[in-house]
Amino acid sequence: MSFKVAVLPGDGIGPEVIDEAIKVLKAAGFDGEYEFAAFGGAGYDECGDPLPPKTLDLCKASDAVLMGAVGGPKWDNVQPITKRPEIGGLLPLRRELNLFANLRPAKTLQALLHASPLKEGRSRIDLMVVRELTGGIYFGEPRERRDNGNTAIDSMVYSRSEIERIAKRGFEVAMSRRQHLVSVDKANVLETSRLWREVVDEMAKDYPKVSLSHMLVDNCAMQLVRDPSQFDVILTENMFGDILSDEASMITGSLGLLPSASLSDAKGDNVFGLYEPVHGSAPDIAGQGRANPLAAILSASMMVKYSFGDDGTSARIDNAVEKALGQGLRTADIFEPGTNIVSTSEMGNAVAECLTQE
Ligand code: NAD
Repeated sequence: MSFKVAVLPGDGIGPEVIDEAIKVLKAAGFDGEYEFAAFGGAGYDECGDPLPPKTLDLCKASDAVLMGAVGGPKWDNVQPITKRPEIGGLLPLRRELNLFANLRPAKTLQALLHASPLKEGRSRIDLMVVRELTGGIYFGEPRERRDNGNTAIDSMVYSRSEIERIAKRGFEVAMSRRQHLVSVDKANVLETSRLWREVVDEMAKDYPKVSLSHMLVDNCAMQLVRDPSQFDVILTENMFGDILSDEASMITGSLGLLPSASLSDAKGDNVFGLYEPVHGSAPDIAGQGRANPLAAILSASMMVKYSFGDDGTSARIDNAVEKALGQGLRTADIFEPGTNIVSTSEMGNAVAECLTQE
């Protein structure tokens, strides 16, 4: 069976890194049917809309979405601001596709262990932050100014059903990994966190193989720096996850290596999701063949695993990335003396060759 993938290369280095991701998917033998659509600044240029209706329709009719990055100085002053790539493209796309679960892995790659800002000699880090993405304080009402603008209010709101659906994702991700789940909250202070803990505890009964513990967010921030190897899956709400996922990912090194997934509900046998590198469109290096394609390649690997349930192919892609780095190949952003600098497409070719020569 062939899987239908909507491909949104976007702007800047987006198309460059997406080309390599698709090259690698093909080399891995993943049976994808790829349909490309304009999005972000490219959508604005083509149709006057960063999220053209036909792009949204294509995404909704697909099994998964693979995205590059959007934005850049060319569109920074577009008026009205709702026509700008991020505000008029990225945010409505995430909302329309109901992407409520954000997955950000942080994994040390053997060849780049020295890039971690933490002490050398630690055991390998391999953790996943599962962050609630569409609720909490970023969306709660009321949020307003009162008292002639001198008092500001944001509201943190979570319903039982919102917590249940993200916790389900958290438990499922833990089941597909080492079966350790740490739910992070601030239950000593916040009512939303007390409900969060209550719901997660109730759901744990459905996942007897998963060992669940709870951790306060301030302690988690500290533990991530002290000993990140203790974590397998961290499940948390929107704002805590925003901060912790950035902290966790930088433990392992470069922006050009960080993939992400944003998942919605299941669609038949598949979990619908959007997969994209964490980095932006990097206008400073666009068109120069200097972009690191590994974040996009690892995002494609997450797509194969989480939307299509093909853990084997996903692991093969991850191994091929490790192998290419192990051969001493580096794009400019991760270059170090003694290694060989390669272009975006040369790095993609090297990963693809590791797969075809298995
Ligand atoms: P950025 O991530 O694009 O770049 C930050 C720095 O990291 C730059 O020096 C860039 O050259 C470097 N970098 C990023 N990705 C790289 C890669 N794959 N290989 C090598 N080097 C890489 O962030 P920015 O400069 O703050 O933003 C640029 C544009 O991207 C803005 O318009 C911003 O709004 C947009 N943006 C989009 C997304 C997205 O599409 N999800 C995310 C972040 C930023």
